[in-house]
Amino acid sequence: MEVEVLKYPAVRNYVAGQFVADAAARSMDVVSPLSGAVISTVPMSDTDALNQAVEAAKAAYPAWSAMPIKERVQVFYRYKTLLEKHMQELTLLVHEENGKTMDEARAEVEKAIELTEFACSLPQLVSGELLEVSKGVECRAERKPLGVVASIAPFNFPNMVPHWTVPNAIALGNCMILKPSEQVPISAGRIAELLKEAGLPDGVFNVVNGDKEIVEAICDHPDIQAVSFVGSTKIAKVVYRRATNNLKRCVALGGAKNHLLVLPDAHVEMTASNVAASMSGCAGQRCMAGSAMVAVGSVDHIIEKLVDEARNIVPGKNLGSVISREAKERIERYITEAEQAGAKVLLDGRGATVAGQEGGYYVGATVVDYVTPDMAIAREEVFGPVLAIIRTKTLDEALAIENASNYGNAAAVFTQSGAHARYVMENASAGMIGVNIGVPVPREPFSFGGWNESKFGTADITGKSSIEFWTQIKKVTTKWNPESRTNWMS
Ligand code: NAD
Repeated sequence: MEVEVLKYPAVRNYVAGQFVADAAARSMDVVSPLSGAVISTVPMSDTDALNQAVEAAKAAYPAWSAMPIKERVQVFYRYKTLLEKHMQELTLLVHEENGKTMDEARAEVEKAIELTEFACSLPQLVSGELLEVSKGVECRAERKPLGVVASIAPFNFPNMVPHWTVPNAIALGNCMILKPSEQVPISAGRIAELLKEAGLPDGVFNVVNGDKEIVEAICDHPDIQAVSFVGSTKIAKVVYRRATNNLKRCVALGGAKNHLLVLPDAHVEMTASNVAASMSGCAGQRCMAGSAMVAVGSVDHIIEKLVDEARNIVPGKNLGSVISREAKERIERYITEAEQAGAKVLLDGRGATVAGQEGGYYVGATVVDYVTPDMAIAREEVFGPVLAIIRTKTLDEALAIENASNYGNAAAVFTQSGAHARYVMENASAGMIGVNIGVPVPREPFSFGGWNESKFGTADITGKSSIEFWTQIKKVTTKWNPESRTNWMS
């Protein structure tokens, strides 16, 4: 029998500094959505594999956590230069396993570098406090790591999302288990290799592949102290409930439906290009994608321009694929149902194909006008390159639509009026607000995290807020008796 040679070797778990095959696990194909070709396989590991990774992390923890933070971050200085050195290779991996364009994949790795830079700056941010609270009595507070922690990632950013958690959690002294998305598990192995090359001791970072079973085992494992999750709201709720029920700290980021409020006084070109990029970047598979535009008053001139912009976003050229056949079908169903309910499709990306990549999963940029707030395309996360335009007469009506969403990741306003912008900043119910910016991702040291059902847990996942999540504060109160000073000098 002929054995098929896949483009990438079979994905393996990474435990105690070694790649280990999980022979007992069933395996799943890794499919490149660019072409539909099987490029690797990934094991669906079980609790035994997780237990081994946790044991490795526990063994590494005493030495790693005892190392001064200024020494720990030296690993990340070296790691950052390795990310830069291997930029092209890491970019290609993301492109092939996720389907986003090379430019988008490169931007993702650049963001991972920025996140690593932030981890390098942690020694400047985590110094403790000390105060003489009464004569001879001192209180001191210092940040300590938690122990073994876990990070569960989604498919849409195979490289960047792991960097939301890995550098900070580890630089702060924790040991980590990463569970990548089974749809895009290849980048994580390369991250592990580069961390080792940068000098990270074995066992500090481990990767266990799998699906629901591993995620549930992470939430249940008595030796895992904290769980971070990024994915859909449905699973974020499951993970948050299960992890906190097991008395772990948890931050669980969920899905999104981000509203872009476009006012009649908005700058036409800037707004049109920003809205088009926001809805179609990464094929709309971003939790920060602006997928609902609320057109306030007469903005037809802006809509016309934005449809022109969107027409130039072409699958296979500057628009990547969506993740799977199921995703393509789901996205196209939203468009068809909206059309059947009376919405007007201004630009139709259904049935898109790319020459030479006929097996790939493509949806062209799509703009649907006259969507009403009750339609599924207006309320639910479509996660494709689709913009739903909802018309309102007033800004308050637009804000009411934004506020009514279960989600609350991001919202943006496009206007040249400071007063209107401020009104939206104050009244939108979302964690991240853009003013004339369609994808308002806060840059380090600011932290990333939404509101409402876009995030469960108190901390944000990056930036300064993440320091709180990955550490606990030890408070020490000291008093020395001045009389007991031995006079060894006489
Ligand atoms: P997903 O929820 O399907 O999967 C996320 C992770 O959960 C994966 O590792 C997966 O293996 C695991 N998982 C899947 N089903 C599970 C189950 N039943 N029980 C336990 N674990 C399970 O999400 P996805 O499709 O990979 O990613 C897309 C979603 O992620 C979108 O909703 C997007 O908005 C969201 N997302 C949110 C943010 C944010 O910052 N809020 C960032 C990126 C992605």
